[in-house]
Amino acid sequence: MTRRTFIATLLAATAIAAVPRFLVAGDSFKEFAVTKSDEEWKAQLTPEAYKVLRKHGTEPSGTSPLNYEKRKGVFHCAGCDWPLYSSDAKFESGTGWPSFFEPINDKALGLSVDHRLFYPRDEVHCAHCGGHLGHVFDDGPPPTGKRYCMNGVAMTFKPL
Ligand SMILES: [Zn+2]
Repeated sequence: MTRRTFIATLLAATAIAAVPRFLVAGDSFKEFAVTKSDEEWKAQLTPEAYKVLRKHGTEPSGTSPLNYEKRKGVFHCAGCDWPLYSSDAKFESGTGWPSFFEPINDKALGLSVDHRLFYPRDEVHCAHCGGHLGHVFDDGPPPTGKRYCMNGVAMTFKPL
């Protein structure tokens, strides 16, 4: 490798490293099975769901009726209806956000790193449409020890 190609390689590597693992804004969702324009999402979703799913918002704690949902069933993405969580994995976290210890299967969710706060958090999005759902933390109950902290407004519930 010549000095020139070495420097070029170094610059390219630096540029790649500077890009987040997963680009979260608008156009980068093209890789998902369900893709819509920002205008289409806005027309389809309630303003609250749009803010969470497409703009990475967070609903106020304790506001979602899904906090109190105790029936057997499946929680789906409010954007594209993709199944996300079984009621069997729901637990009361005391946070005011619907919380689960595992997704319904290994195709339900995608993860990315969210640097919006001063510490990086693992962001959870729908694997089907890329919609932002919430974050996952390592302080959940057994058997996984995970706490998937979800925005209720980003989900719908279908009882069995
Ligand atoms: Zn979705």
